[in-house]
Amino acid sequence: MGMKLYFFECGILRCDKSLITMGRDVGTMFEIPVPFFLITHPKGNVLYDTGNAKELAIDARGHWGAVVDVYEPVMSEDQYVVNQLAKVGLKPEDITHIVLSHLHLDHAGGLRDFPHAKVYVQREELQWAYTPDFYQKAAYIRADFDVSPNWVLIEGWREDPYDLFGDGLIELWFTPGHTPGHQTMVVKLENSGPMMLTGDACYTTEILNEDVLPGLVWSCGEAVKSIKRIRYANDVLGIKIVTGHDPDGWKKFKLAPEYYD
Ligand SMILES: [Zn+2]
Repeated sequence: MGMKLYFFECGILRCDKSLITMGRDVGTMFEIPVPFFLITHPKGNVLYDTGNAKELAIDARGHWGAVVDVYEPVMSEDQYVVNQLAKVGLKPEDITHIVLSHLHLDHAGGLRDFPHAKVYVQREELQWAYTPDFYQKAAYIRADFDVSPNWVLIEGWREDPYDLFGDGLIELWFTPGHTPGHQTMVVKLENSGPMMLTGDACYTTEILNEDVLPGLVWSCGEAVKSIKRIRYANDVLGIKIVTGHDPDGWKKFKLAPEYYD
């Protein structure tokens, strides 16, 4: 029995385009999808990211504060991760593993509802999430991730790539830059071939193909190294790239209940 990879959209964010591509299209409004993914593997059901918190559907400003003036979320209750998983027949306790690309608010928002799952995060990311510098402070909502789940801490380059099930089918690649402990996921599908879920290490196809910096970075140098690594994965290793917040790129993929196998 092979793996299946499902794509989900947890609403959108409206923001200035220059927050995605640094210095480009200042003043142009951009609507980006907020994705999360489910991989069914013989040894468990894995989420890559968990989208926005459920509060976003009711009182976004109450949960995110002034962030909503910069990244305005549009999300309905049925787009919350738990409600979308129900549509493919899964309850929260059916999710055995959660891999978080990083702990920003549009990626760790659903974590609270999966207390049974093992949660795979880079140690540097967890540390930074508790002690970010001022320019990223608002992107970490402590109520989202300070929920004492079963953390499995991954040690950056020392464990790179991290083989989730020991069979080479799901790898976590350390791709810092957007944040200190960002990680991407490579899923090796039987029929569709290898696919990389980049999270925020590569926001859009524009960043993949053109030499433009992402609009929000912890380290430009590390971000560029990670983007180059993703280009290498694509160009040399033939891995299909699934960018993190690309409105056009996103439309080319099929969403759950359809899947890739
Ligand atoms: Zn994001």
